[in-house]
Amino acid sequence: MEKFYITTPIYYVNDKPHIGHAYTTIVADVLARYWRAQIGEDNVYFLTGTDEHGAKIAEAAEAEGIEPQAFTDKVSQKFKDAWSNMEIDYNHFIRTTDKEHVKIITDILNTLKDKGVLYEDNYEGLYCVGCEKFITEGELVDGKCPDHNKEPDNVTEKNWFFKLSDFLPKIKAAIESGELAIYPESRKNEVLGLIDKQHVPDFSISRSKKSVPWGVDLPWDDDQKTYVWVDALSNYITALDYPKGEDFKKYWPADAQFMALDILKFHALYWPAILMALDLPMPKLYIHGFFTIDGQKMSKTLGNVIDPNELVEQYGAEVSKYLILSQFSFGQESDIRVEDFPVKYNADLVNGLGNLVNRVTNMIEKYLDGQIEIDTKDMGLGSEELKQLRFREALLTIWQVIAKDNSLIDQEKPWELAKDEANKDKLKSLLKELSLDLYNIALALKPFMPNKSKEILDIITAKKVTKPSEPLFPRL
Ligand SMILES: [Zn+2]
Repeated sequence: MEKFYITTPIYYVNDKPHIGHAYTTIVADVLARYWRAQIGEDNVYFLTGTDEHGAKIAEAAEAEGIEPQAFTDKVSQKFKDAWSNMEIDYNHFIRTTDKEHVKIITDILNTLKDKGVLYEDNYEGLYCVGCEKFITEGELVDGKCPDHNKEPDNVTEKNWFFKLSDFLPKIKAAIESGELAIYPESRKNEVLGLIDKQHVPDFSISRSKKSVPWGVDLPWDDDQKTYVWVDALSNYITALDYPKGEDFKKYWPADAQFMALDILKFHALYWPAILMALDLPMPKLYIHGFFTIDGQKMSKTLGNVIDPNELVEQYGAEVSKYLILSQFSFGQESDIRVEDFPVKYNADLVNGLGNLVNRVTNMIEKYLDGQIEIDTKDMGLGSEELKQLRFREALLTIWQVIAKDNSLIDQEKPWELAKDEANKDKLKSLLKELSLDLYNIALALKPFMPNKSKEILDIITAKKVTKPSEPLFPRL
């Protein structure tokens, strides 16, 4: 039986949702809706969620004077609210603090240890006594902890490590054979280059409870908590109730795991290594680039961090999704030109699609008394593009038909044809052609704009076609 399993990364709850999270989640949502229409609701599983453990969360909670669990409950809810606002239709929202997840992670950790892929070693890092935690080179300002204006100490602690080095040749072979699929091609080559040219060290999967107090206990070592990777990456299988769940049996391996570039290495090396250690098949990974906002890097200091909720407030969920996806091709590093949104809204939606719906239905009402028989044949507009995850190109294909039809009306001037009874057949076949296009445009829009799609379908397939009482897309 055909099935399709789609995931977004689990988003870290040290931040509220921004447009970067929204982009990844929107493409996953569109693809899920597309596949549901192809193979049925019950054969598609779309997973998103939140990553909720780690020292940073414990600190943020402490700063607010609340327990880490209460803190993560609050931030995780912000993600759920944002996705609800954006009309994201996921099947499951996983949280790494879910009891079921923690239980399965504990089992996975035990399995990995039994398989002999974990070992104890010294972890060396920079430790700020003031922060009571390890900090990275990147966090230092002039070699000092910015919070304490103090140079960190070199500290060594015992941690558990995953023998990534044992798996790298197998991962390389899996990527080269296509068993582990990484798209676009440039990212695949980047990962192969990483394996070939750089020394990729084993990664630690635990920290002392002192440095990471908020996390899943290491079942065999009282002093240690799991550190990031096994806990976070395994969510894609714990959500399906690995190893015995029906969903796991049905849906793994994933057909599309979406992510931004910054977590490529972990998904293309650490995650396959964990899966190989568990004897599980490889997923397909889809990586999108970073984007800038109106030509500038998104940053809190510049104040250009876009809150998806604000976009929805301004344009509604479906239009926001259209404006974001239609700007650049998936996989490319691009610029989101928020300042162009009003222009694009008017050009593509008000004057493009909205106008076409209005003109065609108005003429059917006026010249044919609302009576038109359309051959409801699905031409699969944009379908090939969506299969290849070319979201923008699917939209361009739809909008080419919209533009073609609007100019066809300008050329053929149906209002002139209507003046002469002798042209009645010509007028009728023109309106038939236009309404068949409109029907197909609406079908093709379904994964992107399910509500607008339904509105158009309802109008065009009605017993008596009448033009919409209110414009589909009101002018700004
Ligand atoms: Zn410090």
